[in-house]
This record gives sequence, structure tokens and C-alpha cells, in this order.
Amino acid sequence: MLRHYFPRFVDWLKALRDPRKRPELCTYPVEYVLMTALLMFCGQCGSRRRLGRKLVGGRMGGNIWRLIGRAYSDVTLHTDTMNNVMSELDPQELEKLIAAVFTELRTRRVLDRFRFDRMLTVAVDATQVFSSKKPHCDHCTHQTSNGVTTYFHNVLAAKVVTALGLVVPLAFEFIENPGKEYDKQDCEKKAWRRLAAKIRELFPRLKINLVGDGLYAEEPTFNECEEAGWNFMITLTDKDLPTVNAQLPTNRDDWTATRSRRVTGRSKPVNRKAVRRTVHWKTPVTYHGQIVHVIEMEETDKEGNRVYYNKWITNVKPNEQNALDLAQTGRLRWRIENEGTNTQKNGGYEMGHLYGTKERAWKNYYLVLQIGQLLNDLTRFGDYIQKITGDRRATFEAVYGTMRQFAEQLVAHLRDRLPVFREPGCGPAQQIRLARL
Ligand SMILES: [Zn+2]
Repeated sequence: MLRHYFPRFVDWLKALRDPRKRPELCTYPVEYVLMTALLMFCGQCGSRRRLGRKLVGGRMGGNIWRLIGRAYSDVTLHTDTMNNVMSELDPQELEKLIAAVFTELRTRRVLDRFRFDRMLTVAVDATQVFSSKKPHCDHCTHQTSNGVTTYFHNVLAAKVVTALGLVVPLAFEFIENPGKEYDKQDCEKKAWRRLAAKIRELFPRLKINLVGDGLYAEEPTFNECEEAGWNFMITLTDKDLPTVNAQLPTNRDDWTATRSRRVTGRSKPVNRKAVRRTVHWKTPVTYHGQIVHVIEMEETDKEGNRVYYNKWITNVKPNEQNALDLAQTGRLRWRIENEGTNTQKNGGYEMGHLYGTKERAWKNYYLVLQIGQLLNDLTRFGDYIQKITGDRRATFEAVYGTMRQFAEQLVAHLRDRLPVFREPGCGPAQQIRLARL
């Protein structure tokens, strides 16, 4: 998958600035170290120690040399060496790597069919990487409740979200205090300003549909989007923006218009049961002198019970044609929490403190994890399984089982065998497409 989607991946790794003093004298080049870390996540090893056990004996270390385009060798890295590099590497180097990965998918138009209004949908969400009862460094954010102080390291992530469930990392901003001295702690809102600027700097021509929770329902975010030429679709709760909520008539008949569709049981991905999906919208609505719009969506089952409800504020004017798709776009926000964060914490990747918290290590492990999960998900959602089995109805689940079982097989394969790796960009080009919705 790496060679199919990202034939220049090893070159990108080679271009990372090696933090060691004399890298040319080191046994393991930076691309070897990073490839090992990547396999730790693709193989869902769960901790550095467990990766260490997999690397002893077997062929995994040797196969990593082959993966970076070198001859097989029994010289195998100790995970402490990996951790030393990960502690010192500038996380910006990995942020650039993630940007290169995203740009490659975009250039190859892999994500085009997930666009709404010709733009990809990007969700932002903050998540905790780890916490401790003792201060971990000078930059930890902290919170005291009932006399107990907890120290946190959180990150704000921007990821492309799709109805298929594929989540693609875009850009990241760590939420941390500048040092021992500061007026007010860093927080999600402050980090968002930095992240928005970073996205515009990394991808100056990228236009997006920004989706976020109620925290983003505020004037600076709306202005930011207007300036960048982005759409926004932000959750509007009854508590937020009272002047906007006051403009919404209680009787839905007094809203601008309604559109409704019956969704059959086979429709993926959210509800397998047949539902009736109804949207109402109100336009225009004013907020601090700006024209905005409000759209809400409700789903009811056969018995008429409400099974889903949400409401958004947006700068995209709803109409008969786009309203249902617009609401579905806003709804994609939950994907970043579900497929993004929950899977990384509980789905076998074990995001947390198990990889290393020394200096920059935790940031770098977190960033490599993003690429690892993406590679696994491209295998799961692509039609690669059908290609290699020659069976058009083969599914990831039927061939590998769960993602955890796939990860185990991946590691076992690299440990026990000498898999054939196709040269990047050589051989019969196999077009891999993502599964149909
Ligand atoms: Zn810290």
C-alpha cells in the first residue's frame, strides 16, 4: 500500500532532518528508524517493549532494510535507539511528512469523490494524548479539581473526514504552555488560531468545508473561514449564539423550507435501519451583521421515534438541491472522534504513554501513528483485497478479520517470511480504488 499510494515515501523519510550529531556514522539511517516506528503502529504492537520482542530473532529487522530499499541484513535496531531519535527529532519534520502524504492523495484524486461543493470536508477536534499526576515538563497544561492537579498533553487535529469512514490526517497543533511563565494557559481555541494559519500556510490553495463542534460557533472562526474562502458547518447548540437561536421560529412551518428523504436500510454508513431524514433550514439569519444560515436535520424510524438530531450554522446557503447533502456534511464531524480518536485510543493503536514521553518523543509517536492508521485504513477501504484475491466480492473482514488480526498478520509476515516488495513506481501499475459507499 505504501508503494502503491506513496512511491516516494522512502525518499521523503530520507529528507527528514536527522537530529543526531553525525548521522553518517550511525548504523541506522533516519529512514530505517522511522520505518520501524511506522511498523510499530501498522502492526498495532501496542508499546515499544512489545515491538522490541517482535524485532528479536525472525526477519522483521532485515525486511525493514528491504523496505527502505537496502539489502537484507541481520543487523537489527534496538528500540532504545529508535526512542532516542524520536525524542530529538523536530516534530515539524513529521508534520511536513504528513502534508506530503495528504498532497499525494489529493494529487492522485483518491479523495475527489468525497467532496461537497467541490471541497473536501475537514473536521477539527482536540484530544488528550496522555496525562499524569506529576508535572511531566514545563509545557504541560494542568487542571486542579478537589485539590488534585492533573497534567495534560493535548493535541488539536485537523483531518479530512469521509462518509466511507476513511479519515486522512491533514495538520496538527499541540496544546501546550510556552514555559513556566505565562498569563493564561494554552487552550483549544488559541490552538485553533494557530492551526488555521498552519493549514493556510501548508496548503495555500486548499479550500475546505470546515466542520466543528459548538466551541467553534464564534465570530473569529467565521471570519477566518470567510477570509480563507472556506465553507463552515459548525454545530449550533441551543445554548450557543442566543441572537442566532432567537431568529429561529419555534414552528418549523415558519422556517424557510424543508426537504425530506427516505433512507433505506442498505444505506451506509450511519443507520442500518430504514429512516426518514428531514432537514429544515432558515435563511438568512444575521450574526454580528453577517449573513449566515441555519440548517437542522432529524431522522425518525418507522415508529416515528427520533433517532438523530443536529443543528448547524453555516455560510453555505441551503436550497432544495443541496440541503440534504449539506446536513450530511456537517454530520461527518463525528467521524474524527469515532474513527479518529476512539480507534487510536482503543482500537489497537493504544495512543497514550506506552511509546515514550521523553522530550519530543510523544509528539513524534503521535504523528507517526497518524500515518500508520491511514495506511491500514487504505488497505481496509481500498479494493486491494479484491485485486490480490481475484475475487470481486472479497472483503477485508472475510480475508483478514478485524483490523487487529490484520495487524498481527502483517507483523507475522514480516517476521517469518521474505515478502516480495514491488519497486516503487515499477511493475504493472495497479489502480487501487476506494470501496463504493
Ligand atoms: Zn509535559
